[in-house]
Amino acid sequence: MSGSHPYDYDLFVIGAGSGGVRAARISAGYGAKVAIAEEYRVGGTCVIRGCVPKKLMVYASHYGEEIEDAVAFGWTVPGEARFDWKALIAAKDREIDRLNGLYLKGLEGAGVTLMESRARFVDAHTLDVGGRTVTAETILVATGGTPDKLDIPGAEHAITSNEAFHLADLPKRVAVIGAGYIAVEFAGIFNGLGAETTIVHRRSRLLRGFDDDVAVRLAEEYAAKGIRLHFDASPTAIDKTDDGLRLHLSDGATLDVDAVMFATGRAPNTQGLGLEAAGVETGRKGEILVDLYSRTNVPNIYAVGDVTDRMALTPIAIKEGHAFADTVFGAKPGVADHDDVPTAVFSQPPIGTVGLTEAEAVERFGEVDIYEAGFRPMKHTLTGRATRSYMKLIVEPRSDRVVGAHLIGDDSAEIIQALGIAVKMGATKAQFDRTVAVHPTTAEELVLMRAKARTARAEAAAE
Ligand code: FAD
Ligand code: NDP
Repeated sequence: MSGSHPYDYDLFVIGAGSGGVRAARISAGYGAKVAIAEEYRVGGTCVIRGCVPKKLMVYASHYGEEIEDAVAFGWTVPGEARFDWKALIAAKDREIDRLNGLYLKGLEGAGVTLMESRARFVDAHTLDVGGRTVTAETILVATGGTPDKLDIPGAEHAITSNEAFHLADLPKRVAVIGAGYIAVEFAGIFNGLGAETTIVHRRSRLLRGFDDDVAVRLAEEYAAKGIRLHFDASPTAIDKTDDGLRLHLSDGATLDVDAVMFATGRAPNTQGLGLEAAGVETGRKGEILVDLYSRTNVPNIYAVGDVTDRMALTPIAIKEGHAFADTVFGAKPGVADHDDVPTAVFSQPPIGTVGLTEAEAVERFGEVDIYEAGFRPMKHTLTGRATRSYMKLIVEPRSDRVVGAHLIGDDSAEIIQALGIAVKMGATKAQFDRTVAVHPTTAEELVLMRAKARTARAEAAAE
């Protein structure tokens, strides 16, 4: 592959995260001479300061309740259970170091040259990588995103998810700003670990874009767990006080806390990347504009993952990176499919979702049938916890196809993966009904929803 052009590399990848590493390894496997630049740690957001450490902290935050629940099942728990934040962070960091090592080995094994520096465009084929000039025939931008902070006085006192993974101590009182994935996941973590937790959000419901019934139930579950929901207000300022921080809100309220965490979205990592020098077009948020094949307006420059602001999920970045390599170096043109993507929110309880929300389905089809089940999970018949599980299937009546599935309750994140296959295959409600239940499980409810709960129509949705 290399040698047919005057460049140092066939492919240079900027950013060794989910998308960049996959693209580099697969391209090298096709025989391309590949180099990759990483300015922080190989593995990227998901491995170093995203999905993986977050999930480990979600596990940690469950144990308080589980220890209490054990008593309901006959266990005697000796002494008072205590949690050690520093021990958790150290254990988590050891696992992240291990994964970082595996990623480094993976690149080395694939023959990819790693440059542990920041890269910046000089022109469409030339990069400055930590002061060194490197040229490549094809360049892939996979620089991901970075947390956004609100532009208010005192914002410098606030943390984001980046810092939340390395706080010296668990804050006793924390305000989480926002109500997206990161806000609800971290609110669950902090609360589960014993912090007094408040979600501050500018609207009156959590998780915009998710199905209403699921989002409303999560708010109820969080309120029941003692998480305060301060809705319809935005931060206006943060002051440092003698014993922490004072957060001022647009409705006149103030909150005294030890930490304010912004979880107000992420911006594509394109600042200072020299995209102008290469002539690459960006959108309103600074995202790199690409076509279905992840190609920018400059023919030899491509972009995948969060930097393109299409769908900020690790499996999507990986699929986009793989499809890029297949297309450009494998002579197998391919695109990443962004339809019916199953996803989970690791809230407590977790949410699993795939396909259209009820509002989207009504808008698309005019009328849809809704099947739903709400119940107390078997485990909690003994613990007495008030938590409930809820499931909804949305069925397009003419084809009988299940076009959306939305779950909240224990194991929803696990259940939704297999459900995602059924929805992706176009399974009908009749096929769900023909499937034998697995008993006793939560998931069996999905094949036992015989009676339609209601029909949702466009007029009803507009009311
Ligand atoms: P990234 O993984 O962000 O990688 C980009 C890399 O580029 C970074 O390592 C960065 O240091 C490097 N870089 C940037 N600029 C330069 C430069 N100029 N030169 C050299 N290197 C550079 N997704 C899920 O699917 N499930 C989850 O549970 C989940 N949890 C998350 C939790 C949190 C707290 C966060 C923040 C995100 C989470 N995500 C989750 C989203 C997921 O992490 C991202 O969608 C995914 O990492 C995107 O991959 P990427 O390759 O586009 O970018
Ligand atoms: P999201 O876009 O999901 O949520 C941002 C939140 O901040 C929203 O509630 C939004 O409110 C609020 N917000 C935005 N701007 C302002 C503002 N100016 N003032 C007040 N509130 C504001 O971003 P996240 O940071 O939570 O996560 C980024 C992405 O990372 C996610 O969308 C997801 O794709 C990915 N991710 C995936 C995870 C998973 O798969 N489990 C876990 C974590 C992240 P509003 O709704 O009003 O706009």
